[in-house]
Amino acid sequence: MKQTLRRLMEKKTARLRACILLFFACLSVGLITSPPESVTPTESALAAKLLEGFTVAVDPGHGGYDGGARAHDSGLWEKDVTLTIALELEKVLINHGANVVLTRREDVCLCEGNTASRARKRQDLQERVNIAIAAEADVLISVHLNEYRSRSQSGPQIFYQRGGDAGRLLAGVLQQAMIRELKPKKERVAMAGDYYVLRSKLPSALVECGFLSNAEEEKLLLDADYQKKIAQAIAQGLCEYRELLQKTKQNGQ
Ligand SMILES: [Zn+2]
Repeated sequence: MKQTLRRLMEKKTARLRACILLFFACLSVGLITSPPESVTPTESALAAKLLEGFTVAVDPGHGGYDGGARAHDSGLWEKDVTLTIALELEKVLINHGANVVLTRREDVCLCEGNTASRARKRQDLQERVNIAIAAEADVLISVHLNEYRSRSQSGPQIFYQRGGDAGRLLAGVLQQAMIRELKPKKERVAMAGDYYVLRSKLPSALVECGFLSNAEEEKLLLDADYQKKIAQAIAQGLCEYRELLQKTKQNGQ
């Protein structure tokens, strides 16, 4: 009995020794590597400069007299949050190697005068599209925050112009990236929507980052870390979109 036990122990020790040896052997040939703590996947993606030579027009929705939606609890205006997110997005995109043009960098509307009118709103929106076209942007991303009378609605949602294949592809990829990176409770799908900024030939997407009318999501949307995550998600989506375009081009040739 004792002998059997000793043999068993010896076997176990031998097996353990073999495991340790195998582990160190693997380590030495690099089969087991722990990623250096300072390098996160995001940072390695940044290093890859996936958006080199790609021009992104970023449009912080609203501005000036046009505040957009108003956060239910904090009373903050959509125009201020879209600008913060857009400036964050600009930083991330530049780190990815992209050329970035913003339609506004301050709290202004892009029209003459500063009171609400239909004509002024149209002029403001047209000017945003003009800036993107003048920059020869590859894509136009208009950043917005949603609201709805029912406070239960939540989740990011991307819109594209019906009939535009590139815009639809862009919106679909962005929607997936937002779901993957932000893990919202409600997973929405990209939808066609008739928005003025989406009507040009430029592949465009309108990004509703979430609902300011939802108490829980309002807190997130006003949180600096979450705003950074939104920017990262959009940038990731743009990298994937560009990759898809390049693959399609290669296959077509
Ligand atoms: Zn808006």
